[in-house]
Amino acid sequence: MKKKIAILGSTGSIGKSTLEVISKDKKNFEIVLLTANNNYKKLIQQAKQFKAKNVLIKNHKYYLNVKKSLKKTKVYYGNASLKKIFKKKIDYTMSAIVGIAGLKPTLESIKCSKVVAIANKESIICGWNIISKFANKYKTKILPIDSEHFSIMELTKNISDSEVEEIIITASGGPFLNLPIKKLNKVKPAQAAKHPNWKMGKKISIDSSNMMNKVFEIIEAHKLFKFSRTKYKIIIHPQSYVHSIIRFKNGLIKMILYNTDMKIPIFNTLYTDKKKILKTSNIQFEKLNKLNFKKVNLKLFPSVRILDKIFTLGPSAPIIMNAANEVLVDLFLKKKINFLDIVKYINKIFKDKSFNKYAKMNPSSIKDIKIADNWARLKTASMCVK
Ligand code: NAD
Ligand code: MG
Repeated sequence: MKKKIAILGSTGSIGKSTLEVISKDKKNFEIVLLTANNNYKKLIQQAKQFKAKNVLIKNHKYYLNVKKSLKKTKVYYGNASLKKIFKKKIDYTMSAIVGIAGLKPTLESIKCSKVVAIANKESIICGWNIISKFANKYKTKILPIDSEHFSIMELTKNISDSEVEEIIITASGGPFLNLPIKKLNKVKPAQAAKHPNWKMGKKISIDSSNMMNKVFEIIEAHKLFKFSRTKYKIIIHPQSYVHSIIRFKNGLIKMILYNTDMKIPIFNTLYTDKKKILKTSNIQFEKLNKLNFKKVNLKLFPSVRILDKIFTLGPSAPIIMNAANEVLVDLFLKKKINFLDIVKYINKIFKDKSFNKYAKMNPSSIKDIKIADNWARLKTASMCVK
């Protein structure tokens, strides 16, 4: 039987990598849903290539374009309910929309998919309470795709907190690792979006360039796994071959290495059949002679200091930080603010007189998350126009 697959955000970097893995083994997969926001041309091309049963275009403006081009596919738009599209549970959903916009579709997919692989870290950071509740209720397996979290999952199967000394998440340091600090304020969006090791969507590339991505990833790990929060550390590893490292209390250190290719975590969550072979470029061992590790320079990456306080600011603080960051990254990409303003304004919102009121809210529904998220978006935008 073919595995029934849905991809939320199929036109993005993770979505395309997922389809690339599937394209090598089309006879074993059936694409039952592809979704995109605006890129209707890519969506149409993918739907034709993979004979998708259903597609969803978020932006209604492109609905007719998609509808006219795809005669054999059911076409939906906007927030159409996945539960209505699928009468029975499908096998696997890749959640690869960027930003908090991915939370609602991710939750819907938990209701109608046996496995949900989540790349969309913003959903985990802001909505883990609800995601985990839904996963229990609907007996759905959640698998992390973010390379560090996929590695931690692999390294800590059947491991308890008492056996673990440290959990280390590596960071490449991005494009500005060796830039003199005084030049940081002048960097342009195109420079920040050019990651030295990974090809990714724009937003995560900017988050990587100032290491907000690692701030998100520590929170993400804390939500996903049951290890003590203080055990998580970040280390700079410019080559990005090592993704995560576990230091055990028995003196052993285990790490996972693989090429900077998201098809590797994707492949390993798509197949439960261990005999399947992924054809990918292997790491040449000679390259491992030059593995470097160093401490994070907090002057170069002040974002990392946010981790000293974010867990004590209230349950909705990550939602506020995420929303502010989404607004700020967008403004930076539009050249409305400078590179250093991103972290500066995030810190400013933590000090706002209304911050506590929203940060202390315990979010138990999408509605609660929206309240904190909306406040943060409006506040951030108003801070920046001054
Ligand atoms: P991307 O920008 O390349 O793609 C985003 C996808 O989401 C596109 O298909 C787009 O159409 C869709 N989308 C955007 N806004 C939407 C909205 N409002 N409603 C519905 N769909 C919308 O992003 P990406 O690099 O593929 O990243 C996707 C997610 O995976 C992010 O959360 C990112 O942090 C995470 N992630 C990515 C990588 C990577 O290598 N790219 C690695 C780890 C984690
Ligand atoms: Mg990552």
